[in-house]
Amino acid sequence: MKRSVPHPSESHAQELRSLPSVSELAAALEGVSHGVAVRAAREAVEAGRDRIREGRPPGDLERDARARAKRALSSGPRPVLNATGVIVHTNLGRAPLAERAMRAVAEAGVGYSDLEYDLSGGTRGSRQDHVEELLRELTGADAALVVNNCAAAVLLATSALSAGREVVISRGQLIEIGGSFRIPEVVGQSGARLVEVGTTNRTRLDDYRGAIDADTGALLWAHPSNFRVVGFVEEVPIEELCRLGVPVIADLGSGRLAGWIPELSSEPLVTATVAAGAAVTCFSGDKLLGGPQAGIMVGSRKAIEACRSHPLARALRIDKLTLAALAATLTLYRDPALAASEIPVLRMLTANAEDLRERAQLMCDQISEAGGTARLVEAAAKVGGGALPLLELTGPACAVDPTPHALDELARRLRIGTPPLLARALDGLLLLDPRTLTDDDARRAAAAVIAALA
Ligand SMILES: *Cc1c(COP(=O)(O)O)cnc(C)c1O
Repeated sequence: MKRSVPHPSESHAQELRSLPSVSELAAALEGVSHGVAVRAAREAVEAGRDRIREGRPPGDLERDARARAKRALSSGPRPVLNATGVIVHTNLGRAPLAERAMRAVAEAGVGYSDLEYDLSGGTRGSRQDHVEELLRELTGADAALVVNNCAAAVLLATSALSAGREVVISRGQLIEIGGSFRIPEVVGQSGARLVEVGTTNRTRLDDYRGAIDADTGALLWAHPSNFRVVGFVEEVPIEELCRLGVPVIADLGSGRLAGWIPELSSEPLVTATVAAGAAVTCFSGDKLLGGPQAGIMVGSRKAIEACRSHPLARALRIDKLTLAALAATLTLYRDPALAASEIPVLRMLTANAEDLRERAQLMCDQISEAGGTARLVEAAAKVGGGALPLLELTGPACAVDPTPHALDELARRLRIGTPPLLARALDGLLLLDPRTLTDDDARRAAAAVIAALA
């Protein structure tokens, strides 16, 4: 019997032939360099062919190629809507900065500043002066030094206090932080010898006592920020370690300066390790502190001076833009109410349920009005950034039915959209968490979902 309609593969062949060639399409992208135009054109043609093979119309290839070329030419990390509810999202740039910190960065970047100049004396100054006083005031330490990140801080402290000597650490604290920061390897790089004491789950004061001798440079106390050991466990409190007469390096990672936030109560306080007498306490600027990427070191005058004058200090030195953002963020901490309302990480951590509900509802309404299916659910967000692994921040979220797409397909469309959006999956639904979105972000997130559902 003769078929009246062509077989799908025949019609596909015809459609495929009718697509423009890569060179034709590239030539249409005027004002774009040859290499970028050809790559964008090739990708657009490939995408068009894929659509035809799936039985869909190829779409406007020139427009697609133009958009791809534009994306290739726009430089640097792109803004992303974070609807995952993970507050300190390591892959999305960790802590968003406070407005004031951003203004400080703009001022420091656009012109000259007294970065290393003492204006009253007319002499050379230190970039550290801009934050040292503040850090002393906020942590109670005698001295402070800031470097590139917390990994750098731990490397510098171990190098300065114990190169060529021994560093004693509990086997329960031989931790790995994401991005291949492993305590044994960092200590190895510092030129110190690692001496492990105790066991994975239990280490006692006598274990440390037995390991300390004339060759001991320091004791390292590392906070297991990204995991917890529960059950038959014992570690020595830092106060007791500090009484053993050997310098203690405390690696806190997350850096909780805000003692007044109950959600953070299971994280060690910077002021506590300082008060306990740690020689150097190290913590990150862009985790729970909510500032820029930085490694903050606070401690005794002698230990910090040893770090300051170590040759690695120059290699790990903090940049002026970071310093400006850090100083502005730390200044906010002088007033807890201001810090809680202006530092995004703290604001998200303490967001009240009513505000979250309103923002989640706003997204649900916007999506429903456009014909989608979305409803309010209770969900649990995470702090992220390798901090507080057990803490669940429960609150309302907007759950979207991905139909007519599979959930994976909807998520993919959202990731490659403009602006890109990242969300969570829960029981076959796409979850938009209002905690990590502003009101404005929430409207844009809903619009992105509507576009991706279409
Ligand atoms: C995160 C973390 C680090 C590394 O901090 P960065 O600022 O990412 O370099 C080191 N130690 C601990 C305990 C951490 O949690």
